[in-house]
Amino acid sequence: MPLRTGADYLRSLNDGRQVMLEGERVADVSQHKAFREAARSIAHLYDIAAEPANRDLMTFTSPKTGEPVLRAYQIPKSHADLRQRRLFSQKWAEATFGLMGRTPDHVAGFFCGYASVPEVFAKGGQKFADNMVAFYERMRDEHLYVSYAIVPPQIDRSKPAHKQSDPGLYAGVVKERDDGIVISGAQQLATGGVLSDWLQLSCIHPLQPGDENYANNVVVPINAPGLKLFPRRPFALRADNSYDYPLSSRFDESDSYVVFDNVFVPWEHVFIYRNIEVSRDQWWKTTAHTLGNHQAQVRYVTKLRFLAGLAQCMNEMTGNAGSPPVQVIMGELAAFVTIYESMLLAQEVMAPIKNGVLWPAVATIYSAMAMQSEFNGRMLEMVRELAGGAFITLPSSQADLESPLTAPDMERYHRSASTDAKNKVALMRLIWDFVGSEFGSRHQQYEKFYGGASFLVKTNVYRNFDWKYAGGLVDAALALPPIGGAE
Ligand SMILES: Cc1cc2nc3c(=O)[nH]c(=O)nc-3n(C[C@H](O)[C@H](O)[C@H](O)COP(=O)(O)OP(=O)(O)OC[C@H]3O[C@@H](n4cnc5c(N)ncnc54)[C@H](O)[C@@H]3O)c2cc1C
Repeated sequence: MPLRTGADYLRSLNDGRQVMLEGERVADVSQHKAFREAARSIAHLYDIAAEPANRDLMTFTSPKTGEPVLRAYQIPKSHADLRQRRLFSQKWAEATFGLMGRTPDHVAGFFCGYASVPEVFAKGGQKFADNMVAFYERMRDEHLYVSYAIVPPQIDRSKPAHKQSDPGLYAGVVKERDDGIVISGAQQLATGGVLSDWLQLSCIHPLQPGDENYANNVVVPINAPGLKLFPRRPFALRADNSYDYPLSSRFDESDSYVVFDNVFVPWEHVFIYRNIEVSRDQWWKTTAHTLGNHQAQVRYVTKLRFLAGLAQCMNEMTGNAGSPPVQVIMGELAAFVTIYESMLLAQEVMAPIKNGVLWPAVATIYSAMAMQSEFNGRMLEMVRELAGGAFITLPSSQADLESPLTAPDMERYHRSASTDAKNKVALMRLIWDFVGSEFGSRHQQYEKFYGGASFLVKTNVYRNFDWKYAGGLVDAALALPPIGGAE
């Protein structure tokens, strides 16, 4: 199959998917203002990947078809392979300034990780492992965009899935048939769901005996009968123009609460079925979680570089860039960015190879993610600190700069030492959309929670840290011989 272009992608979106917005069903997400520009941003990614000049950077040869396919689907077997995956994702992340988290390369990483250790799925029966590998190959060879919902809804966290007030609340199996299974219930939180081709449903929360109906891993086409997506309030809908909302208007990838209403899944799309042990092992005994989150870190580093650039341009605009106290704050910001750049490389350099598959360095990835939930807010605070009242003194909209009634005052009083009012306001609007608008605020929540609540991520670090080595140093210190002579 030839590489997918942006036009192919946009055409495929009008497929009858059930996206419910403001009490109505969206007729075509590629045309609706809430999703249209985000869809175009994804289309642009496919065009970048299909560009012949980017062939080596963005593709590798499918071992099955011999055709070029996206590197996002490349199972890394060497350090060089993981580096190539990074360069692929970086190229895509640069096109969205790191502001779209669940681009097609995110869940692609999970499926590469699953397919590289299919034995984990075979524990539930060989056919499930075979299904997994076959779907991974299909994703790769047909350039599919899969989103996922792997967290049970926040209904009553004090009780396990099967003890909720109604066992049909969490998405789970309600019927088994000869040809497949039927799923009903809700799951969160499919970022990019409305823009994707398929949805993966599984569960990353720990499950306990009795929760078997929720211990699954399946995929369904996004237009599957009975599958409904309920996106949160779209920021793009309220962004009345791209000058005042340069980011909200283009990169609002949307996050959807997902409802399965008796959705049929044929066996070939079932990879885990009512198996709590395999449901747990899929995350921790394959490279899925680390490969998917390696992509997330590539994107995050790009976003941080953009943030540093925004802050520096703002300081230059306000004439503060040369001030030593400002340079101290900027040095701290740059230190955080550099730490994340280095952590990203460390995930690759320290990656072990096991049974011919490269495992991104687990403790390093989780450490970066765990601290991201705290440091991200701190970095945004630095930018707010440096801005003073800059965002709040801005004119009410682009119209103030255009109307003959207001433009003369705007031009006179909103200029900066280095540029005119239109450019100055454009930069400040860009920064506000990053740090302070509703879009920016959702991003802060995203960076805190996209990989799970931080207490869980810290538990992952705990489980993977080399305590034995650290404890050995303590033993060595305690075993030091006494110092002889008078003390
Ligand atoms: C913008 C955004 C996009 C997302 N995109 C996706 C996606 O595409 N796909 C997907 O599947 N998921 C996605 N997620 C993640 C996911 O849906 C959850 O939000 C995330 O895993 C956190 O779980 P929760 O919301 O249920 O929070 P909870 O688990 O309910 O935790 C909320 C808070 O309660 C406290 N808490 C709860 N239990 C404990 C405990 N045992 N010990 C200490 N403190 C505790 C903590 O303060 C914790 O931060 C996304 C999240 C966000 C915010």
